[in-house]
Amino acid sequence: MERKPLLGLKPQTYEHPLDRKTLDSLQKTGGLETLVRKVNEWGLERMLQVQLSGSHLKATEDSFPELAGLLREAAHNIDLPTLPDLYVAAQGGLNAFTAGVKRPIIVISSEAVDCLTPDELLFVIGHEVGHIKSGHVLYYQIAEYLPVIGEILGGVTLGLGELAGAGLQVALLNWKRMSEFSADRAGLLACQDANPALTVMMKAAGLPRSRYDSANTEDFIAQARSFESLDADALNWIARRLSVMGQTHPWTVLRAQQMLAWIDDGSYEQVLSASHEGARPMLGSAFCVSCGFKLGASDTFCAGCGARLRAGS
Ligand SMILES: [Zn+2]
Ligand SMILES: [Zn+2]
Repeated sequence: MERKPLLGLKPQTYEHPLDRKTLDSLQKTGGLETLVRKVNEWGLERMLQVQLSGSHLKATEDSFPELAGLLREAAHNIDLPTLPDLYVAAQGGLNAFTAGVKRPIIVISSEAVDCLTPDELLFVIGHEVGHIKSGHVLYYQIAEYLPVIGEILGGVTLGLGELAGAGLQVALLNWKRMSEFSADRAGLLACQDANPALTVMMKAAGLPRSRYDSANTEDFIAQARSFESLDADALNWIARRLSVMGQTHPWTVLRAQQMLAWIDDGSYEQVLSASHEGARPMLGSAFCVSCGFKLGASDTFCAGCGARLRAGS
């Protein structure tokens, strides 16, 4: 199918409002700056770089031409200027994740490569490209590795009371969950077809492999649409409590519901048909105000500290 590259697309154009809202409260949570600084000093980024690139197969144009092509297409369609590295991991499950703020690495499970169609993989890779585009990776990898980080750095080194640490963990997990809604929108904008997006979610929700050929998205759409419609506050309320309980279920049906709602209210079509060129954020200064890191003209987030850059900031 013919897909339209959305040149100049800004993440703010399509991000889910709950992503922004929970990010705001995360950034207001005491201790975040200290945690980020400690994690950077400890070298999480470097450790992940070595661990991931030293453990998994790198998908190059030669070794995995189809995957490399899908990555190029996803990055082109939603306008991510620098291509991340892509690795395939010997993992079961339909998993993909991204690590690395300065040099992002997308890792996709071998089972996902085997079990998903090219269009579905384009959605999955587009979802990960979306995490990079939105500057999610810094907080995302801290949230992901927080239990380990906490143990290694210890409460004393962190200089945070146990309670502050727990509050920070809840805020991180809550935001991480909401960030998935934005990444799903990015995935949809990359593959520009709701069908593969929905079949990926069905497969992740538990569709048995024996049913892959006869997957019926209509039933899944009906289930997603009939799922209790929760307003932003109710969703936030539940997510917060689930995060407190340490629950990290993927919420696949809810993600489908949120994506369908975005399509149904015309927002998806609007982003797809709009012209985004010339809409790149103008930066008031070439250095990050938070950490002093030198910024590129098209950066939407600081690669030094992960801070989002807004026009004139
Ligand atoms: Zn994600
Ligand atoms: Zn910075």
